[in-house]
Amino acid sequence: MLEVHAELLDRLELGKVADYIPQLATVPLQKYGIAVVTREGELVTAGDAAEDFSIQSISKLFTLSLALGRFGDRLWDRVDREPSGNAFNSIVQLEHENGRPRNPFVNAGAIAVTDAILSGHLPKEAIGEILSYMRFLASDDSIVIDPLVARSEQLTGHRNFALAHFMKSYGVIDHDPAMVLGVYFHQCAIAMNCIQLARSGLFLACDGCSPLTGDRVVSTSRARRINSLMMMCGHYDGAGDFAFRVGLPGKSGVGGGILAIVPGKASIAVWSPGLDINGNSLVGTATLELLAKRMSWSVFH
Ligand code: GLU
Repeated sequence: MLEVHAELLDRLELGKVADYIPQLATVPLQKYGIAVVTREGELVTAGDAAEDFSIQSISKLFTLSLALGRFGDRLWDRVDREPSGNAFNSIVQLEHENGRPRNPFVNAGAIAVTDAILSGHLPKEAIGEILSYMRFLASDDSIVIDPLVARSEQLTGHRNFALAHFMKSYGVIDHDPAMVLGVYFHQCAIAMNCIQLARSGLFLACDGCSPLTGDRVVSTSRARRINSLMMMCGHYDGAGDFAFRVGLPGKSGVGGGILAIVPGKASIAVWSPGLDINGNSLVGTATLELLAKRMSWSVFH
């Protein structure tokens, strides 16, 4: 892994940091970390693996698993499970499909999932529930939300407001859009490092059980389904290219993180803030491509 890290260092400048969230634009392009946790609990790291970054859309994977635990398959009444082939924040597609989001990983779908989590809660309780879930999965109580990132997105997230209001007009979300987005922006602003993130995803590599805590997080069939969704929808309109190059389920975030799952074997988190045109980490994807190739990791054996 150290070899892969060293090999890709000179590509870090090729990506572009997400600047539509002003606070994310301050992150240096040179940051680059990798962490792999195996199902036996072995940890291997390289570079800035212990440095916090904004997990952004990777949070959508965990809110989905949390909401499925609470609402079961009823959750699929409000959000579809099809790859989008469109930008993560596309409004056109939502209008075309009468306010029903394509999948839980595009922004509209994730906002609808967050709306479900908000049921029966005040926004601050829902934020607390999501944060506790992340701490539980990572077995690490030091995980926090970066208030500057949350605020930055609150002030500039006009497209997300448009998506939420649009869904509200179709009755797809139940709560006040401002309340739902308050929770959504905070979940995206959770700050974690590659080690914590790889640990949090391990249950997906282990049939829904976390070997770290010994807890069952989701059922085996649900873990498989979440992995399928990651494979098909985890990289927005770059999902096909990611599947082609890496061959593993993965979820990216505009903070430059990617969580990838090697079913039965390991969980990998990589962070490099420079993004490609689809908003996915450029070096992060290249890292996973090389790592998967060298380790012969693929779901398509
Ligand atoms: N918080 C970001 C947004 O809603 C998440 C996008 C992403 O990471 O892809 O725009």
